[in-house]
Amino acid sequence: MSALEHSVVDPEGRTVVLVVEDEASYLEALNVGLTVEGFIVVAADTIDDARRVFAEAKPDLVLLDVMLPDGSGIDFCRELRAVSSVPVIMVTARTDEVDVVLGLEFGAADYVTKPYRLRELVARMRAVLRRHVAPTTDETVTIGDIRIDPSRRSVTRGNEVIELSRKEFDLLNLLASRLGQVVTRDECLDTLWWGQDLADTRTLDTHVKRLRHKIEVDPATPVHLITIRGVGFRLDR
Ligand code: CA
Repeated sequence: MSALEHSVVDPEGRTVVLVVEDEASYLEALNVGLTVEGFIVVAADTIDDARRVFAEAKPDLVLLDVMLPDGSGIDFCRELRAVSSVPVIMVTARTDEVDVVLGLEFGAADYVTKPYRLRELVARMRAVLRRHVAPTTDETVTIGDIRIDPSRRSVTRGNEVIELSRKEFDLLNLLASRLGQVVTRDECLDTLWWGQDLADTRTLDTHVKRLRHKIEVDPATPVHLITIRGVGFRLDR
């Protein structure tokens, strides 16, 4: 996900967490506890409500109870996955739910079991966010004669626009945000295909190859998009 897809609800840039929870005691405790930890909490107690709050608040992370009054958190997680790459942590009330949560491939990043300790939950939230958030930048980056403008999601060579797919742009932007540094394959996969089953290493290579054909003068001997064998990729000026 690019930084552009995050809403800037908070001028201080705090992480916005959507808590979907129908038990008032948990909701209250999380509201207080997570606020103290520096998060902004938005809450919903039904899936219907969660849909609306999600669209309005564009949270950076979702804590999603499995058993909700109007349906299953698992189904809602699937629904979110279709429209967003926001990381989701499932909250289960019973240990037999854990098997269900673990057995299904529906794109949750992690899960916690009630009752949980706030400290444990926050540690997991931070771990998930670290894994997920792309260190993107809004500053224009120039490599050779190519200009990457993240705020307009445009890539140009002189006056010529280089047409990139969304994933190709996200990949280029991720590499550009760390110009001259190696970005590992895992970071690329996590950033571009978080929580999606298709995120295999061959898909990444295909995107790198396509991107190279679009930005390199001679794709066979790249001078900008460099593969570091067995590690990842580096974008050079
Ligand atoms: Ca519940």
